[in-house]
Amino acid sequence: CKIDYQPAPNLLENRIVLVTGAGDGIGRAAALSYAQHGATVILLGRTIAKLERVYDEIEAAGGPQPAIFPLNFEGATLKDFHDMAETLDKEFGRLDGVLHNAGLLGRITPFEQYNPELWQQVMQVNINGPIWMTQALLPLLQASDDASVIFTSSSVGRKGRAYWGAYSVSKFATEGFVEVLADELDNQSTVRVNSLNPGATRTQMRRTAFPGEDPFTLRTPEDIMPTYLWLMGPDSAGTNGQKLDAQPPRV
Ligand code: NDP
Repeated sequence: CKIDYQPAPNLLENRIVLVTGAGDGIGRAAALSYAQHGATVILLGRTIAKLERVYDEIEAAGGPQPAIFPLNFEGATLKDFHDMAETLDKEFGRLDGVLHNAGLLGRITPFEQYNPELWQQVMQVNINGPIWMTQALLPLLQASDDASVIFTSSSVGRKGRAYWGAYSVSKFATEGFVEVLADELDNQSTVRVNSLNPGATRTQMRRTAFPGEDPFTLRTPEDIMPTYLWLMGPDSAGTNGQKLDAQPPRV
């Protein structure tokens, strides 16, 4: 956890970074924060109006001109991921980072009642889509001198919890995939891959999962950005295959 990390103002200068789920919650805060520290950010998400608002905020703050990439992981095909890689290759020629942040909670419900279609959707958005997107983007990441790929985990991806169903399983899969890919990349690639658990954070997803909780007891997405910046930038070079937390556990 690097919540006390003090990033250099130009930490991500000249870096091209893709953020998924960039329109809301933690992804929005990460896109704004990465741009504020000099990155050219590719804003990926399913609700274009939200991405446009983030785009405008980055421009208004004087950040490098971002790009918008509309994509819904639910219907996305391998061809979409390869078309995307081709577009990014033409536009930028490389990628210095990917924050896999988009996520779907599904339902908190006893497994006996879990709807199999919803289970598939959650697995598609949280793990299968991001995996095949990563495969398509690897050549672009390998074209960077120091590329950081961050997958978003959760405490229920490290210890299962009753009723969390597909969400929990998708986060276990995320942790497993990061171990596998990190082991492949170790010592022979400029690409590194780690998982990051944001911890309880004041967003719509958290409100849906814990409707009885007072949101003002939680850290905001902005509060946890130091760890997101550290892991995306050069100060974490060499960190590969780690399971990190963005904030200390709440007491
Ligand atoms: P939010 O629900 O606030 O934001 C999720 C983002 O993902 C939204 O921008 C959403 O788009 C996007 N998204 C959802 N489905 C799709 C899809 N099918 N295709 C493309 N984009 C999609 O959640 P958080 O910011 O809280 O969560 C961000 C990440 O952090 C998730 O991976 C979550 O699992 C993880 N996490 C969050 C915790 C918390 O306490 N908040 C704790 C542990 C983990 P749209 O705006 O269009 O809906």
